[in-house]
Amino acid sequence: MKKIAILGSTGSIGTQTLEIVRSNPDLQVVALAAGENVSRMEEQIREFHPMMACMWSESAAADLRCRIADLNVRVASGMEGLLETAVFPQSQVLVTAIVGMIGIRPTIAAIEAGKDIALANKETLVTAGHIIMPLAKQYHAAILPVDSEHSAIFQALNGEAGEIEKILLTASGGPFRGRTRQELERIRPEDALKHPNWTMGRKITIDSSTLVNKGLEVMEAKWLFGVGLEQIQVLVHPQSILHSAVQFADGSVIGQLGVPDMKLPIQYALFHPHRRPMGGRRVDLFELGQLTFEKPDVDTFQGLELAYEAGRRGGSMPTVYNAANEKAVALFLEHKLSYMGIAELIGEAMAHHRVTDNPTVEEILETERLTYEFITGRIGV
Ligand code: NDP
Repeated sequence: MKKIAILGSTGSIGTQTLEIVRSNPDLQVVALAAGENVSRMEEQIREFHPMMACMWSESAAADLRCRIADLNVRVASGMEGLLETAVFPQSQVLVTAIVGMIGIRPTIAAIEAGKDIALANKETLVTAGHIIMPLAKQYHAAILPVDSEHSAIFQALNGEAGEIEKILLTASGGPFRGRTRQELERIRPEDALKHPNWTMGRKITIDSSTLVNKGLEVMEAKWLFGVGLEQIQVLVHPQSILHSAVQFADGSVIGQLGVPDMKLPIQYALFHPHRRPMGGRRVDLFELGQLTFEKPDVDTFQGLELAYEAGRRGGSMPTVYNAANEKAVALFLEHKLSYMGIAELIGEAMAHHRVTDNPTVEEILETERLTYEFITGRIGV
């Protein structure tokens, strides 16, 4: 029996993780944490019987306590509750399916408590990779990638001792592939929330359309696989069948193909190094006929180049990139910023920032706060 705790259980990755639990009786959920969705959390507690649960606000936690008064489940709240979930004594693996830098502290606590991390929360590695990766090594904690591209790379590296020459990181190109800058000026949130291949949370869906998600993934890959940014090449592959690949020093390219379904990488992370059977659709290469690859249009989608720039500068700059994007996306979703304004604001916030090298967690969170403040001042909201 493998015991797991999940941060962000009510979200897209969280609920898909619970689908995996549903079809694998040797997985047991011992602790769950979420933000504000009390009714979904109640349903999850009644179905999966964790020993503890956490809601972000105390009011949501109080509501949950009333709803499940008939059950013997401890309910916590806030950062203390997230930390308690992360280090819950009975769990072996922590699934980090929360959005944003709020995942940094719980991830660190879980590593120090000897848990393996099934990592979906890419913001943690992007902003604090220099802290997380050495810590994981020190505590012998496995960082198991859940992001489909990183899972593909992880699978390609399985059993390989060979030197990585290049990582081929695929991107669907999102719903606006091929559009001009002028056409993109008129994009509304409703348009950007329609991803052609994947069903995901709102923020990551917008990030996929702007290629900022790919930028974050480039920085995530750098930390996970210990390669230089110049070794990571982004390829637009609209069919989303090749989830990424590794080119080795002998020229061999090994990749992983599959239908676009996040349950596959989630299950692989939970059972690594074993590969479990899984139902559902299969790749039919005859039906597909062809797989195509293009260079990303970095002039139109400037978020990708800005990510390389942030990653090259390092230190606190990736935090600025990530925080500026988070705030800009929230403003776009509230119709307070244009679609093209997202990358413009990231660029402005980066130009305004004075980098701190090797930032501590406190400095990362302070940089996040200052970046939010900069954007708010800049937009006047
Ligand atoms: P969602 O928005 O669907 O879900 C986010 C989850 O985090 C929800 O359970 C939410 O709770 C919870 N949450 C938000 N704020 C807090 C908080 N302060 N305290 C506790 N819980 C909180 O996001 P996704 O599942 O799409 O993404 C999660 C992470 O995984 C992101 O980092 C994303 O980049 C990454 N990822 C996602 C993929 C996908 O396919 N969705 C693919 C690869 C990576 P509630 O809703 O109850 O408020």
